[in-house]
Amino acid sequence: MAKKDSIEARVKRLHAGGVVDIHFDLPMDLYEKRAQSNVLAKEVLPEFEAGGIAIIGAALYIEDRYLPERGLQVALDQIARLYAESEKSRRCVVCRSSDEISRALKSKKVAFLITMEGVEPLGTDLDLLRAFFELGVRMIGLTHARPNAAGHGGIFAASGSSPEGLTSFGRDVVRECERLGIIIDLAHINPAGFKDIVDLTTKPLIVSHTNSRKFYNVERNISDDQIKMIGKRRGVIGINSVLVSPKKSNSTLDCFVDHIEHVADLIGIDCVGIGFDFFEFIYRQWPEEKKKWLAEKLTTPHFIPDLVNHSHARNLTRKLIERGFKDRDIEKILRGNWLRIFRELL
Ligand SMILES: [Zn+2]
Repeated sequence: MAKKDSIEARVKRLHAGGVVDIHFDLPMDLYEKRAQSNVLAKEVLPEFEAGGIAIIGAALYIEDRYLPERGLQVALDQIARLYAESEKSRRCVVCRSSDEISRALKSKKVAFLITMEGVEPLGTDLDLLRAFFELGVRMIGLTHARPNAAGHGGIFAASGSSPEGLTSFGRDVVRECERLGIIIDLAHINPAGFKDIVDLTTKPLIVSHTNSRKFYNVERNISDDQIKMIGKRRGVIGINSVLVSPKKSNSTLDCFVDHIEHVADLIGIDCVGIGFDFFEFIYRQWPEEKKKWLAEKLTTPHFIPDLVNHSHARNLTRKLIERGFKDRDIEKILRGNWLRIFRELL
């Protein structure tokens, strides 16, 4: 009993400083529910609070059905919804700099960092990148799984992604992100595009939500060589909760921690964080044919039963303690490493 109490006390202490989840498809959900009011406060905040979540990478993502014509409009509407719902909640705030994030943490508000998953909203117009920066976008991944004007996504197979690297537009986007101060996210990009981004840039690079190919060998995840490239830049890799294993039976908290351990073994504990990518709440609302479409086009996600949403975040911390991680290292995984990236780049 004493041991259990001390674990719970440690979890409580570790979460008191807040947890960073750098990838969450929140703006899309707020947009789809735009006819309802207070979605953030009613449906999402209680889970953040239960899990001690302090900072969220809120990812703009445009579903196929809106492309190409409505990509820009839907992205703008997603941003508008995020600001409006944050304001209304009084407990969340969109942040654009490391200082603003620190202030949000001090005032016990949840900080949102707007991120973009796939540059479809830009079309091929680099000026729009500047416009999105002014609206608060501070992290960009060039592609999702589908190809776009910037490049190609990694596929859900061990080989067979496009051998093409970035397009000239993609290269311009990368250079402009680095110049403006937008964090470049290598999640989803195909291996050739990954290499191009590393060659084009000099600042720390991050992968917001991914897993190691050691445990789930698809090109959507990242290889040991790619992990080392991020380590060389002192970047951070966020571990994804929905692609830890191709097998449902292996999709467990322990396997999630295996991914953390693997990245830490290769490039150090200072280079691993969290990008949960929780979307079970969206997936469960889909009709069967859409789930089938996802399975055929990409993959069937295997949700970790005790790590399905933000209210479960403490289960991860408990597991890290069980697995022998020191408090100092758990703090780095839960927030410290991402905070360092924000200090260095924002
Ligand atoms: Zn993703």
